[in-house]
Amino acid sequence: MQRMCGETIGSLRAGLMHGLCTLQQTSLKLVFPSTCASCGVEMPEHDQDDDHVSICESCLGEMTFFTSSICKRCGAPVAEGIPLPGDGCFCCRGQKFWFDEVTATGAYTGRLRELLLKMKPAAGNRLSLSIGKLLWARHGDRLRERPADVVTPIPMHWRRRMAHGTNSAAILAEVLAARLRVPLAGRLLRRRRNTPPQFSLTPPQRWANVRRVFSVRRGYHLRKAHVVLVDDILTTGATCSEAARALKQAGAERVSVIVVARSVSH
Ligand SMILES: [Zn+2]
Ligand SMILES: [Zn+2]
Repeated sequence: MQRMCGETIGSLRAGLMHGLCTLQQTSLKLVFPSTCASCGVEMPEHDQDDDHVSICESCLGEMTFFTSSICKRCGAPVAEGIPLPGDGCFCCRGQKFWFDEVTATGAYTGRLRELLLKMKPAAGNRLSLSIGKLLWARHGDRLRERPADVVTPIPMHWRRRMAHGTNSAAILAEVLAARLRVPLAGRLLRRRRNTPPQFSLTPPQRWANVRRVFSVRRGYHLRKAHVVLVDDILTTGATCSEAARALKQAGAERVSVIVVARSVSH
């Protein structure tokens, strides 16, 4: 495959900046704040460690993590020990997706849901970083099984990004790209219009709301690429599927979705 992309120089620059920051941090012997990024409880102080997840045992214990019994097609939990037919589980059977597989850490409920809501404003960036490391800790082995060529987040429309001050999916993607040692393409996908939030809509409205909303920016060459697509939540799969459609139509061969939480309420 022809490797990426219009962002190579930007990525190198970002890598250089990251290197400089690391140097500065090393020379100053900075340590991360010794508090849980979720509840603020004091944690044992630790040296700077890229893979340290700053979430306390108590908060982690309140999250509903999925076990190995997951529908690989849509990321929903399935009954232990019962083989799934090739066309997916009760959540996704009959539904066409443009992506090839979904990896989800846990259920969109309880503490994990609270954390994802806290990640949304810019003040949640430290939490997003910790959740990114949690994604890597739980799914790094699976992500390494099938080497990716590039990692990209679901983009926000610029108006919404201005309002939020951040895109938490972009921070998650940055953490995963760095650990997979593949390029992060933060601007690969473009959201062509500002759509109403998916949570306010019924499932059929969600599919209509995001239909063909994404496009791949000019200057990217995805021929036969394996793209890892990152978002925080997957519910119907409409948003990730439409993003995967744009990636596939731009030449990507495989799109693997990774999300923090899978909502199975619909
Ligand atoms: Zn905590
Ligand atoms: Zn499924």
